[in-house]
Amino acid sequence: MAVLQVARLGNPILRQVAKPIVLKTLGEPDNEIQHLIDDMIATMREQDGVGLAAPQVSISLQLVVMESAFNERYPEAPTIPLTVLVNPVITRYSKEQALGWEGCLSLNDLRGLVSRSKEVTVEYFDRNGKESTLEAEGFQAVVLQHEIDHLHGKVFLDRMTDLSQLAYLEEFETYFVNQEAVEA
Ligand code: ZN
Repeated sequence: MAVLQVARLGNPILRQVAKPIVLKTLGEPDNEIQHLIDDMIATMREQDGVGLAAPQVSISLQLVVMESAFNERYPEAPTIPLTVLVNPVITRYSKEQALGWEGCLSLNDLRGLVSRSKEVTVEYFDRNGKESTLEAEGFQAVVLQHEIDHLHGKVFLDRMTDLSQLAYLEEFETYFVNQEAVEA
């Protein structure tokens, strides 16, 4: 496994629509996508992110990994089991939305307030090409919407409606106390 370099805002790869992955050969041993998945998991963990999309490591494919492990510093934070999503599509958005703070490994020092659907349903294939469905709410729903946006060339800034609610990390921690951000 290797830790990959994360593409930052301004890199055109982050603004491209990612291509679907060919499922037929996905489950074969030594398929190159399997190596990419392992490297993306290593990179997400190394960078302390809760999600990572392939365009963020300069690969324009429809692939997302997410995980939120138990953290002693934030014992109340929700956990998400390690999940690999190939060609994910959001098939349902709840009408009800909620505001939450987000960060992004590609915009590493910024935090912004974003409105997202509280619940989503995502259809995807797992790393072996098995068709799967995930119904998510809250924290996990935010991570999914954030990551799947990356597959369509969007970052959280594009979803903000009030840019006065954008801050550098240090100022966020000073002036927006007791707020937690989802970093994906
Ligand atoms: Zn991101």
